[in-house]
Amino acid sequence: MIQLYIPLNFLGVIYREIKQSLTDLDKMFGLLEREREVADAPDAKVLQVQGAAVRFEHVSFAYDKARPILHDVSFEIPAGKKVAVVGPSGSGKSTLARLLFRFYDIDSGRISIDGQELRSLTQSSLRRAIGIVPQDTVLFNDTVAYNIAYGQPGATQAQVEAAARAAHIHGFIAATPKGYETMVGERGLKLSGGEKQRVAIARTLLKNPPLMIFDEATSALDSSNERAIQAELDAAGQNKTVLVIAHRLSTVVDAHEILVLEAGRIVERGDHEALLARQGVYARMWRLQQSGAAG
Ligand code: ATP
Repeated sequence: MIQLYIPLNFLGVIYREIKQSLTDLDKMFGLLEREREVADAPDAKVLQVQGAAVRFEHVSFAYDKARPILHDVSFEIPAGKKVAVVGPSGSGKSTLARLLFRFYDIDSGRISIDGQELRSLTQSSLRRAIGIVPQDTVLFNDTVAYNIAYGQPGATQAQVEAAARAAHIHGFIAATPKGYETMVGERGLKLSGGEKQRVAIARTLLKNPPLMIFDEATSALDSSNERAIQAELDAAGQNKTVLVIAHRLSTVVDAHEILVLEAGRIVERGDHEALLARQGVYARMWRLQQSGAAG
């Protein structure tokens, strides 16, 4: 009996392990399922960029059907203009950016660039047209040069350096013993939040896409670093169509339109002056940040 018990117990352990790996496989297929959703249509076309005007029409979206995130969101970014999205944490700001990059397909509505619906386009042509400077840049365990040139394999050293200069990270790189050949990331040189963002800005400048998405860092950079990065982002976004996910209202003052998102709905919209005059959510956020900045 005892002899029989031990192997069964042992089998129990194996059974649990197999069950666990099946669960993992399940998760993996779950992910693939999601991936498949954003597969190219058989007749997918290459995006033809004119000015990269963006249009969201009645867009609704949920990551999980039981919990809708965006509700009937409509806005436009005219070619070469900047639209900013502000709102509390979890209101769906980054989700808008992910949908524009087509990480996910929407549940209803339409998203288009220069009149071409995202779902009708090849993902490669869409992603070539968009540059993202994310909140938290994850660097590859590779050289600084590789990280800046990522996505542009043909870039020359001179182009990489020019982008790094424009993003004000060249001096820092040049001061390291191996310069652009310095390994960065988990197993290499650790960069600060601001330095990583500059690498992301350099990468985007090198890519030079007509449409840019800036997802401002929530993590506190010191304010001089913050202002410098802001100036670099402004320069990078010149004459481009820009969607800014903003946490600091000082960075949205010059936006063509500001969208105030709350729980996945646009509750206010307009330019800075119009929104201040409205004396609503935005005006309150502005006063709060101003008094925070003064204090
Ligand atoms: P923050 O200002 O904190 O960055 P946000 O306004 O950008 O917030 P989102 O990241 O768009 O908010 O998230 C909106 C909601 O969607 C949140 O409630 C979040 O929990 C949920 N969410 C985000 N990503 C996923 C995901 N991959 N799967 C499921 N839910 C998600």
